[in-house]
Amino acid sequence: MPDSPDPRIRLVPRLKNQGYERDQVAQRRLWVEERTGASLPQVGAFSIPSEEMRGNIENPVGAAQIPLGVAGPLRVRGKHAEGVFYLPLATTEGALVRSYERGMVALTRSGGVEARVFLDANRVSPIFHCASVSEAHEFSVRLPERFEEVRAAAEATTRHGRLLALDCQPVGRKVIVELSFFTADAQGMNMIVKAAEAACRFIQQEIGGERYLIFSGHGSEKRASGSLLRGGKGKKVVAGGEIPRAIVESVLHSTPEGMADLWQHTVLGHLATGSFGYNGHFANGLTALFIACGQDVANVANAAVGITHFEVTDAGNLFASVTLPALSVATVGGGTALGTGRECLAMLGCSGGGKAPKLAEIFAAALLAGELSMGAAIASGEFVAAHEALGRNRPSGEALT
Ligand code: NAP
Repeated sequence: MPDSPDPRIRLVPRLKNQGYERDQVAQRRLWVEERTGASLPQVGAFSIPSEEMRGNIENPVGAAQIPLGVAGPLRVRGKHAEGVFYLPLATTEGALVRSYERGMVALTRSGGVEARVFLDANRVSPIFHCASVSEAHEFSVRLPERFEEVRAAAEATTRHGRLLALDCQPVGRKVIVELSFFTADAQGMNMIVKAAEAACRFIQQEIGGERYLIFSGHGSEKRASGSLLRGGKGKKVVAGGEIPRAIVESVLHSTPEGMADLWQHTVLGHLATGSFGYNGHFANGLTALFIACGQDVANVANAAVGITHFEVTDAGNLFASVTLPALSVATVGGGTALGTGRECLAMLGCSGGGKAPKLAEIFAAALLAGELSMGAAIASGEFVAAHEALGRNRPSGEALT
């Protein structure tokens, strides 16, 4: 990339070997300070060994720091996660940690949260161009018949990835080929895009299609869509639990009927606005957990599509559940091995191979806590007061009452 002759719009300096040594990071930061007039001592006060950033960031100048709080205890009764957990939440939204904590206490005192992973897959959806509608049809008929060969081509690129399914979606004379993969403990996009590329080369050579693009937007990676509700973009995980009336009243300051009424009104609002998914604030907990645990935070866009449900049981208690059809989480790869992310995963016993389903169950249980607490705050009319007390870092420094 050639640099501009205009000295005001120069490229960020290219340093030897991409510039990941600590003094090169400082040199680049100094260059930014000189050009912008901003002083960056906090950005420069980072603890991650700078060489470990290679592969996760380019042009490093330091690290962004987000406050980290802890919420718990949360008792989870999952297939993979069994026990009491304390969750790391990185956020600047005051009242959030206290709110999740309240929901966790309510659930734990009620005996804990059941959680199960129903589906485990991630997808890439390349799009092939065919000459005509009849050729697109022929392509869509012939391709599934060659599934085993496509699978072999894809899986030759990865030790852990498995091609689970292939589905053709015609759009005019184009065909979107949805490739669904099992990605073990990785979020898997690097893994499966490489595998998909190998599959596409095989398909073009052996079956047809004049050309292809590796992405079509159909995969819903880092974007919300209705198709996410059926799953196939990460883990489809459900968490639920019954909360006795007495605990709803004492811890959440509401009633099972009040919570069910709140849920019904919220769903009306979602229906009226055409939402994808019906939940209170999945994005809040997901973002805080993702930042803390080294996940790709942009995947909140797909992971936040899901459904919360509150209902009154025959015994007069509250049954609450969350369904997350597209939870992209990893315990290997991406940012999961970097400094604070690795430490926070270790807090949950989820660092490294074999732990991704456990992490998914814990995250789903945590989101249920957040849905309960925020729902209860709205149902009881305490929401604004709680934020006034905890959630405002007043710019003028005025005292909290
Ligand atoms: P990665 O860090 O690129 O690769 C992870 C690798 O770890 C896998 O390919 C796998 O090698 C290996 N591995 C070792 N033990 C494993 C285990 N127990 N389970 C699964 N894999 C294991 O991470 P990634 O998950 O593939 O990609 C995630 C990153 O992709 C995110 O950080 C995201 O920012 C980025 N991303 C990429 C794209 C893209 O289009 N390329 C799109 C969106 C996001 P084998 O493959 O040999 O098994």
